[in-house]
Amino acid sequence: MTPWNFAQLPGLEEEKTLLRQLSSGAKIPHALLFLGDYGSGTLGLALAFARLVLCESSGTEEPCEQCSGCRKTAGWVHPDLHFSFPVVGTRQTSRMHLASWRSTISADPYFTPAAWFDIQGGEDKKQGNINVDECHEIIEKLNVTVVEGAYKILILWGAEFLGTEGNRLLKLIEEPPDRSLFLIIGADTTRILPTVLSRCQLIKVRPFRDEEVAEALIAHSLAGEVEAIQMAFLADGNIHEAFRLAGSGEWEIAAQFLQWMRSCYRKVGIDTLRLAETLAAFNREDQKTFLTYALHFVRQMVRAHSGMTDKIRLSGADLQAARDMAGLFDLDRLEELAEMFRQALYSVERNAQSRLLFVHLSVQMHALFHDRIRYLNTQNVFS
Ligand SMILES: [Zn+2]
Repeated sequence: MTPWNFAQLPGLEEEKTLLRQLSSGAKIPHALLFLGDYGSGTLGLALAFARLVLCESSGTEEPCEQCSGCRKTAGWVHPDLHFSFPVVGTRQTSRMHLASWRSTISADPYFTPAAWFDIQGGEDKKQGNINVDECHEIIEKLNVTVVEGAYKILILWGAEFLGTEGNRLLKLIEEPPDRSLFLIIGADTTRILPTVLSRCQLIKVRPFRDEEVAEALIAHSLAGEVEAIQMAFLADGNIHEAFRLAGSGEWEIAAQFLQWMRSCYRKVGIDTLRLAETLAAFNREDQKTFLTYALHFVRQMVRAHSGMTDKIRLSGADLQAARDMAGLFDLDRLEELAEMFRQALYSVERNAQSRLLFVHLSVQMHALFHDRIRYLNTQNVFS
């Protein structure tokens, strides 16, 4: 695998230029807060920046991959590069989870706190935090003298998970030991200690654009061009979510939606019932995926109906179908449709009887179509 660098992050040219300038400048601000949603490029930028700073060659735009600094940061084992992140469990600290952390950031530097806690806690769904023991370790890590490189760097991921214990770090962030850098990653300023916020220089990271998410999927050989852009629309700027969609088979489930709509449109017959049976046989998570996609589809129909055609986040056959069908419904009916899927989602979450639910949904969908078709006396949209 190619070692991590800026080039591997799609887009974000402005952010990259700023960070390259900072790294080549005489003095790097000692605390940077990379602010942006999880699933965006915040951690990826911080990682690439840290590698560039620890690279011993000067004037390069990327880590040179030749020097001893680069060889060590390639596997995230440079003695001057430290990591701190929330962990599940009271007496736990980052140090105990470093191996898992290194493999996670290497495979998917866009991951979210929920994904990270899943890796640690399995099915328990426990949330982690940055606890007192961790704060003590941070202080210790940064107070040890510089071992090899020009800087020692602490990447602190998940600033929201730093509770009031974080106040122990204030002095360190304010007057850090000589040549040390804090690279802090967070998403939600309302949940980050104001005292930490005020001591950092802010690097705002915008969400990825759809074509950038698609580029990442293609670069990782997770999708072909057509599916990549569709998945990007669903992932909404979050590359971790796009990777998850591509790897989970959920994508195929969403693709069945159009088939189901077509079948409901034609008539409620044996095909519709068979499809309803298929949906009912899905596990609960897959049923939720199907209904979440249905809601997404209805929202795009609202956009089509309101003339926001360039904002429609669908492509291919789904895009065409959304445009065609939008003409069948007025906004009230589209709201009714959205409510129908919201209710179904709610019922699935509450363990409703699946078979009945999907048969009922099919009948409702058919009625909604034909009510409108009689009224508008329009042509066959699926012809
Ligand atoms: Zn180097």
